[in-house]
Amino acid sequence: MRRRTIAHEILLQGVGLHRGTPVELCLRPGEGGIVFSRGGVRIPARTEHVVDTRLNTAIGADGAVISTIEHLMSALWGHCLTDCEVEIRGDEIPVLDGSARPFFLAIREAGFAELSGEVDPLTVHQTLRVEDGPSWIEARPGRFSLTYEIDFPGTAIGLQRFSFDGSGYEAEIAPARTFGLLRDVEAMHAQGLALGGSLDNAVVVDGEKVVNPEGLRFPDECVRHKVLDLLGDLWTLGAPLCAEISAVRASHKLHIALAKKICGAQTRVRGGRP
Ligand code: ZN
Repeated sequence: MRRRTIAHEILLQGVGLHRGTPVELCLRPGEGGIVFSRGGVRIPARTEHVVDTRLNTAIGADGAVISTIEHLMSALWGHCLTDCEVEIRGDEIPVLDGSARPFFLAIREAGFAELSGEVDPLTVHQTLRVEDGPSWIEARPGRFSLTYEIDFPGTAIGLQRFSFDGSGYEAEIAPARTFGLLRDVEAMHAQGLALGGSLDNAVVVDGEKVVNPEGLRFPDECVRHKVLDLLGDLWTLGAPLCAEISAVRASHKLHIALAKKICGAQTRVRGGRP
C-alpha cells in the first residue's frame, strides 16, 4: 500500500469525552508515520506507546499523555492514511459527536497527498489470541475480515454481532457512536472518566431503553462502534493487518494486547530470517 498523508491542514475544536475540557486539534501533512504532539512532546501513535486502555486508548512519552485517540485513528484507518502530524492543545482528542464521522469527513475535505514509499501489510502465521475471562480476541491467518460480538443481557443493547470485510466504512462504521449504560455513569465519573459525555456525543442506555431522544443510527450501533474502536486501535500497528479477526466482549485493553502480540510475532519472524 502506498503511503499517504493529508494535502492541507485541518483544525478541529471540541471537548474531551473523559476529562470534559475544551481541546483544539490540528492535523498537518507529515511523512514520519502518524505522530501526535502535545506541548512540544512528540508521541508516535504506535502500539508500544500505548499507556492506558481504561475505556479509551491513550498514548504517552516523556511525561506527556494524549487520551482517546481511537476514533481519530479509526478515521485515519478509513482513509488508509499512514502519515500525519496531529498536534493537540489539551490532553484528549475531542469527542465531537462520539463517532469517527466528523474526523472522516474533515480528512476527506482536506484531500490526500501520496508519499513515496510503500507500507507492507502485516500478516499472521498462526492464530494469535488474548483473553480475559469471558472476553477474547484473536487473529488468524487469512484475508482481512473482522467479526465482533457484544452481549449486554437485559438491556436495549442485548446480543449484537457484526461482520466487516473492510468495505463500506463511511456508511456502515464511521457514524456509529460510543455508548454507555446509565447505571455505569456514576462509577465512571468517580474514576474521572466520561466527564464530557452527554447525549450529544454518546448513546446512553437505561435498561431496555435508549435515552437519546433521536434514538439510534443503526439498530446494532453499539457493536458497529466496537468495530470502529478496534480498527482505530489496530491502526497503531502502523500497517494494515491482513488477518481474520474475531472479538467477543473485548475492550481497548484486549485490542491493544492483541496488537502487542502481533508486534511480538512480527519481530520473531523477522528475527528468524537469515
Ligand atoms: Zn469508542
